[in-house]
Amino acid sequence: MAVETTIPTTTSTSLGPAANEKDAEKLRFIDEMTAYADAVQEKVLAEILSRNAETEYLQRYKLGGATDRATFKAKIPMVTYEDLQPEIQRIANGDRSPILSAHPISEFLTSSGTSAGERKLMPTIKEELDRRQLLYSLLTPVMNLYVPGLDKGKALYFYFVKSETRTPGGLLARPVLTSYYKSEHFKSRPYDPYNVITSPTPAILCADSFQSMYVQMLCGLLHRLQVLRVGAVFASGLLRAIRFLQLHWEELARDIAAGSLSPKITDLSVRDSVADILQPDPELAEFVRAECSTGEWAGIITRIWPSTKYLDVIVTGAMAQYIPTLEHYSGGLPMACTMYASSECYFGLNLRPMCKPSDVSYTIMPNMAYFEFLPLELAATRKGDGDVQLVDLARVEVGKEYELVITTYSGLCRYRVGDILRVTGFHNAAPQFRFVRRKNVLLSIESDKTDEAELQKAVESASELLKPYNATVVEYTSHAFTKTIPGHYIIYWELLVKDCSQGRTPGGEVMERCCLAMEEALNSVYRQSRVADGSIGPLEIRVVRGGTFEELMDYAISRGASINQYKVPRCVNFPPILELLDSRVVSAHFSPALPNWSPQRSG
Ligand code: AMP
Repeated sequence: MAVETTIPTTTSTSLGPAANEKDAEKLRFIDEMTAYADAVQEKVLAEILSRNAETEYLQRYKLGGATDRATFKAKIPMVTYEDLQPEIQRIANGDRSPILSAHPISEFLTSSGTSAGERKLMPTIKEELDRRQLLYSLLTPVMNLYVPGLDKGKALYFYFVKSETRTPGGLLARPVLTSYYKSEHFKSRPYDPYNVITSPTPAILCADSFQSMYVQMLCGLLHRLQVLRVGAVFASGLLRAIRFLQLHWEELARDIAAGSLSPKITDLSVRDSVADILQPDPELAEFVRAECSTGEWAGIITRIWPSTKYLDVIVTGAMAQYIPTLEHYSGGLPMACTMYASSECYFGLNLRPMCKPSDVSYTIMPNMAYFEFLPLELAATRKGDGDVQLVDLARVEVGKEYELVITTYSGLCRYRVGDILRVTGFHNAAPQFRFVRRKNVLLSIESDKTDEAELQKAVESASELLKPYNATVVEYTSHAFTKTIPGHYIIYWELLVKDCSQGRTPGGEVMERCCLAMEEALNSVYRQSRVADGSIGPLEIRVVRGGTFEELMDYAISRGASINQYKVPRCVNFPPILELLDSRVVSAHFSPALPNWSPQRSG
């Protein structure tokens, strides 16, 4: 994408003086893309439309080979995943004709966003890996502007793959990061002193989450004095690692003392990957025992990894709930949120990664896709009609909120991502965005996203079990409880038991079955987190006494809510309301077993 500009030969860029010439080149690329954001976008759109001109999808809208914005905006409708489902299903079933993209679909990326309870399937093409790689390659040069000396040590990053399946037509379906870690881009990456990670690749690629985590933690301990940053993709992943250390430090210390790996690690390539670095080290084992046996976990990250300069984790969006816990474990280390991405497309990066979590803004890189913005006031009302006025990347207004709409090289056209972003300013001519929220997400512990309809369905399904007791759920609400690791869903139920005279009130065992029935009814990402990753704990139902939800309404009205418009909130986070609910709990019940989940899709 050569936009004409004079390339300076010094290492100074508008972002600051680069650490070295290689970084300067990358920072200049950011400068160039952001300075000419609108021209780059126009070119990206023309490129996408011309290469995909013969696809069934674009032919349908009779673009007649046009690649300009005006024709595109006039003829192509804005769509949701559900609108594209028939095309996506055909591709999944093996239709290799150019339906959405002229380039062959190389695989499906399975989003953590779901449709009808299953992960959304995002068709992707091979070259998108290069585009993702390009965005990754910009992160270190930006970080080097703020944190010098990262080439003098290592990064302890907890990275995991998830299971993959094949569609009926034989294409792989897996999460985008699994696809990336398994690609040659990652596996055969050249040595880069600024990006040396402690985890051996076989440990990252091990699908067994226990073995993978065990060996990644072990290597982190073995290299503890060289570790300069600690991270995971999302905050919840790093907290899971800390929890793992709390549960398994004795075993890890034993292995370190003996210089031999626990027999629980059965994957031979994982065993091989530590063979050279695991030597008996009684002193380190003693250190680990001394730090972990006290029961004091505050500041554990800097106690074990004393040279850590920052945490590399996303704590924006749904992950913001973990900031206090991470601060507790890290003794207040800065948290760097470096990038904003999805299965559909990698969007952009944070050009000031050491800023406070509440100040994080992402700069969307104009070369990644064609970006449009649906003003929030229209997002709620307008369906996917073609004449809706979407705003171009370079024309969004500071302070306004928009829903992100993308047109990608893989063939998504004017696709609603579902993320709400607020414009906070510009870098050169490219806007910067605060991630505000994802639409329709009620509950989230890690990558799970449960919406109101799914919760309602789960409550309905579970309350079937109350029928023999002539009992009904009269009201309910929910809360994502993250004070413990893993977090879990709490559902508050107010019950009406019509006929408790014969002693047939639903007992604890029935309520436990209700918890499990709710879990069974939740989407596959939730169930996978429960079953395969253990990253969500058993769902809890807290039964509150009769009249509690009326009190909740009284409270809301006393704070100014309109009595006519009052609706029971289906999720509560406001501490006084939670306190009120908790003070009315008559019994609490946990799901006694894991729900069903298998890597295979059910539909
Ligand atoms: P997935 O399709 O499963 O990869 O999930 C992508 C979604 O995760 C995005 O559309 C956002 O809603 C969310 N997400 C990704 N990166 C960030 C970020 N840096 N901050 C907040 N939310 C994010």
